[in-house]
Amino acid sequence: MDIQSLCVKSYEFDKTTQPHQLPLYMSSSFEMESTDDAIDIFTKKKEGHVYSRYGNPTIEAVAQRIADMETIDLDAQGYGYLTSSGMSAISTLIIAMLSKGDAVLTQRDLYGGSTELLRKVLQRLGIESIAVDLGDMGQIEQAITEHPNIKMLYMESPSNPTMNCLDIKKVTAWSRGKGILSAVDNTFCTPYLQRPLTLGADFLIHSTTKYLNGHGNSIAGAIITHHEPYAKQVWETLKLVGSTCNPFDAWLLANGMRTLTLRMDRHSQNAMQLAQHLYQHPKVQSVNYGGLVDHISHDIASRQMHQYGGMLSFVIDGDIEMAKKCIDRLEVATHAPTLGDVDTLVLHPATSSHLNIPAEMRIASGIADGMIRVSVGIEAIDDLIRDFDQALGGI
Ligand SMILES: *Cc1c(COP(=O)(O)O)cnc(C)c1O
Repeated sequence: MDIQSLCVKSYEFDKTTQPHQLPLYMSSSFEMESTDDAIDIFTKKKEGHVYSRYGNPTIEAVAQRIADMETIDLDAQGYGYLTSSGMSAISTLIIAMLSKGDAVLTQRDLYGGSTELLRKVLQRLGIESIAVDLGDMGQIEQAITEHPNIKMLYMESPSNPTMNCLDIKKVTAWSRGKGILSAVDNTFCTPYLQRPLTLGADFLIHSTTKYLNGHGNSIAGAIITHHEPYAKQVWETLKLVGSTCNPFDAWLLANGMRTLTLRMDRHSQNAMQLAQHLYQHPKVQSVNYGGLVDHISHDIASRQMHQYGGMLSFVIDGDIEMAKKCIDRLEVATHAPTLGDVDTLVLHPATSSHLNIPAEMRIASGIADGMIRVSVGIEAIDDLIRDFDQALGGI
């Protein structure tokens, strides 16, 4: 063989010894052993891989692990798909399950990107969205009477950044009774803290970018269900829309997930201690954290979550300028527009995630000018408390 051909030739490597850690299959396609073999794989008579948009061993292993965690206390098989982001998980799921003329029933305080997707993109394609207070069964009943085309209920609990919870069991029991599909965004909780399928949901999605990865170095999403026909429908859409995850992001996610339970325990412990500390701080007006007994959602959170998680928000006794100054003074915590990383992150909703929402509407939905959202990390709690004390002390 000429040296030019030798350079180009695909590599031979040991396929017989099982690697202890999940290998990263950075390969767009897979070789066919024979033309007959190819037909069997294409027609699904035989297991195998063809092309990474359809399936890839690294991606599938990670997707299945999340599906297994989400169905751990169900007597059912879980099906999971990884997507290129949390947003692509949401859009792929809705495009897979809904058609022109159908409507999604959802809440007003959804993740900002999800609201925009529904209003700006899906609306244009003929999929309507109706936002009500999903904590009020009267409003839910009224919505279905007025919009018989509602085909999916889409919810998020706890919500961002007020940490309000919805009773997933109650709302999904209602939707099931009406023949409406239900989907829950489980990003804030991960399957360690809350399992929406067990609570009655048909689907859940994740932005794995957040807690599941935990290290802030990969963007991906997941769609999970325990209904086989729906899983097939999702996969058919996913492979054609092309919202497939990148194997490298899946591999980074696999690494992050190994320590999920340890991280979530520590996130929850630290958040509880920081919430309690801020609660009695003279410069803090209020704290939103499900673990605090006087939080509006304390009862629901205690019932449906195993711990209260790492997200909280608090309102300083001051205006926008003071909130910005507090954030700028923080040294241990970093100002960054993500959440769920191992280190503590803060965000000022009024000037970032909720900047485009008119002030009166924003304040009416509980997002005050002085609100600061905290994704509490796994640092030593004393360092965090000292940091917030010095930042608040200087405003
Ligand atoms: C970040 C986030 C998303 C979107 O996920 P991406 O990975 O950024 O696309 C959706 N829902 C929630 C609750 C999020 O926090």
